[in-house]
Amino acid sequence: MQNNPLKALFPQLVGARPLIYLDSAATSHKPLSVIERTNQYYSNENANVHRSSHTLAAQTTAKFEAVRQQVQHFIGAKSDREIIWTKGATESINLVANCLSTQHLQTGQKILLSALEHHANLVPWQQMAQRFALQIRIMPVDDKGCLLIEQALQLIDSQTALVAVTHVSNTLGNINPIELIIKKAKALGAMTLIDGAQAISHLKVDVQALDCDFYVFSAHKMYGPTGIGVLYGKQVLLESMSPYQYGGEMIQQVGYFDSTFQGLPYKFEAGTPNIAGVLGLGAAVAFIEQHRALIDQIESELYAYLLQQLAQIKQVQLWGETKNSIALQSITLIGLNIQDLSILLSEQNIAIRTGHHCTMPLMQRLGLAGTLRISLACYNTFADIDAFMQALKNAVLQLAPDSAIQDESNVVVASELRPIVNILPLAQKIKAAQGWDSVYREIMMAGKELNRLPVHLQVAEYEVNGCESQVWLNCEVKEQHLHLQGDSPSKIVRGLLAIIFEVLQGQKVESIAVFDMAAYLHQLGLSRHLSSSRGNGLLAVVQFIKLQCELACAKN
Ligand code: PMP
Repeated sequence: MQNNPLKALFPQLVGARPLIYLDSAATSHKPLSVIERTNQYYSNENANVHRSSHTLAAQTTAKFEAVRQQVQHFIGAKSDREIIWTKGATESINLVANCLSTQHLQTGQKILLSALEHHANLVPWQQMAQRFALQIRIMPVDDKGCLLIEQALQLIDSQTALVAVTHVSNTLGNINPIELIIKKAKALGAMTLIDGAQAISHLKVDVQALDCDFYVFSAHKMYGPTGIGVLYGKQVLLESMSPYQYGGEMIQQVGYFDSTFQGLPYKFEAGTPNIAGVLGLGAAVAFIEQHRALIDQIESELYAYLLQQLAQIKQVQLWGETKNSIALQSITLIGLNIQDLSILLSEQNIAIRTGHHCTMPLMQRLGLAGTLRISLACYNTFADIDAFMQALKNAVLQLAPDSAIQDESNVVVASELRPIVNILPLAQKIKAAQGWDSVYREIMMAGKELNRLPVHLQVAEYEVNGCESQVWLNCEVKEQHLHLQGDSPSKIVRGLLAIIFEVLQGQKVESIAVFDMAAYLHQLGLSRHLSSSRGNGLLAVVQFIKLQCELACAKN
């Protein structure tokens, strides 16, 4: 499909210099219908729900509850009492992990998770496991990150209390065979929770057909507003669980010393809910239902095109499933640092995510520091993919001009302490560079002048916290003068370190205290090229150096 008719419905994606948005797994954009629905609430319908009996409140309450039924039908739940409003998938999982009790769990039982889980579907269970002395077991993946289903199924046994697994991996896009997992868990009496955060906008979900006990998702990843999400739970289970939070709305009778609580779903919805969010979610559900066939077609055509295009760059490595996948692809490029790629892509107006994607254990399992994740949605176009590919090729050329495949992790820093006297006026070159590509070329050239920290010192003790990329620093004060060594796996960060070192290296410690990094970056014209997190990372480096100087002064 050459022209995507849905794109025009997303105001932020059309305009003079439209954003190339490839980060929909983090949050999707919102169609005008969703934006207008939330506006309408604040403009014309603003009243609290379930409290006041005046006409406006009653009308708004009816609209609010109608969305509950809409969501019930959207996911095929038996009753609207099984739909609980939460802040999002994270809160839904926390709710379950906090409200299950000794009635549901026995000491020594197992909680089964998969190696693919988002932190939101790991950490709450770790806490629950500690409270109830349960054991966590992990369903394994292969070296590409695909679930090893035979082995996974074997782990489910009569000692399994609960299986919590993601429907679709947020990092790799894999669609997991949750039907098989749920079936085996049911047969052995284990509860099941499915994290549907990444599935809900791409796949038709029917919780009764799946027969899971819980299914969770967030509105903001399915074209809806932030701060609103859903916990679906089977009625009998939800009824057997105590409330999550206490306060207004969830009570029936309150005395000074005791209270009774409402039934489902209200017993889990203490306090004023996100009313605009719920109404916006209703509009998002309507949007998906209206366009489902088109959304499926657009996403599958785009994904096939993306895979075809990526195959043209020889350094690209694909992770996860490509057949059984939503329109999301994680890649790494042999010999290239993903932070560097992310910086150069961002400079070219490509919104994309790099890093561990809140799946640190999965990254460890795959032996990766992170991936570059291209996640598509119904508003993307072939032109977006072309623009991304062009930007990626530019970035690869810039990072590896001769396109030689070089694995930086194996590069041994030769004579560790390169003489710093050779440092050229790097700042001058940066200032003179015209255009983002020249600026970054100069930054990377500057990295060659960096006084590098020996590899054996690149350990936690020397690591600077608060930087987006990994940075190690060694600051020594010799006879009141500062001596710096540093390193980073990122070429660009090494260049930025060299630029900082240029002004600080060999200086007297008193002058370090008054150095204004932000002003300096501004003077070089660098501040507009650095995202706030990267700028803050550099400030963290300078803070670290200043602190070391203060400590050295205090010692003397
Ligand atoms: N699970 C998965 C698979 C996710 O991708 C996310 C969001 N990245 C979450 C849970 C948490 O969602 P939220 O931040 O909206 O609560």
